[in-house]
Amino acid sequence: MADPKALYQEVILDHNRKPRNYGTLADASHHADGHNPLCGDHITLALRLDDGKVGAIAFEGESCAICKASASMLTTNVKGKTRDEAEVLIREFRDMATGKLDVASQPHHLGRLTVFGGVRDLPTRVKCAILPWHTLHAALNSAGSTSTEAEQDPMQAPIDRKSTRLNSSHRCISYAVFCLKKK
Ligand code: ZN
Repeated sequence: MADPKALYQEVILDHNRKPRNYGTLADASHHADGHNPLCGDHITLALRLDDGKVGAIAFEGESCAICKASASMLTTNVKGKTRDEAEVLIREFRDMATGKLDVASQPHHLGRLTVFGGVRDLPTRVKCAILPWHTLHAALNSAGSTSTEAEQDPMQAPIDRKSTRLNSSHRCISYAVFCLKKK
């Protein structure tokens, strides 16, 4: 088996060079913004549910390498999954990153996402890796009932609640910020 640290670096580099599903989604049914003030990560995630499954998903934004790689891998892993299956991945990824789930000894569905297991030893990077997953959770719950689980989730706190409850005007502001930052 490959050295986990080397694999981690290789995956991060690869997904930064070629982020998968990077961009906007014109016909999104769900979307949310995620912001990690600790690092300055800011991503927008959009997806379309087709018959209860994630038919299309895209992200964009300004973020550090870990956040970007995590978001990129999120999109490839969540595509084709049902909302419930996606929520399982969100929970397992968060538990792995915060050290609650030991992927070596406990059952999980994370597959290659386990390359992020090492961030639990890097407290300042945990939120960078988790941000895309919290944003996905917010997006999946953006068009429908609110989740009490999200309200009670302490890890949800760093994310600005206003920006996870997107409306169209806020979305325009986010894109404007991205445009300014890029140039
Ligand atoms: Zn970051």
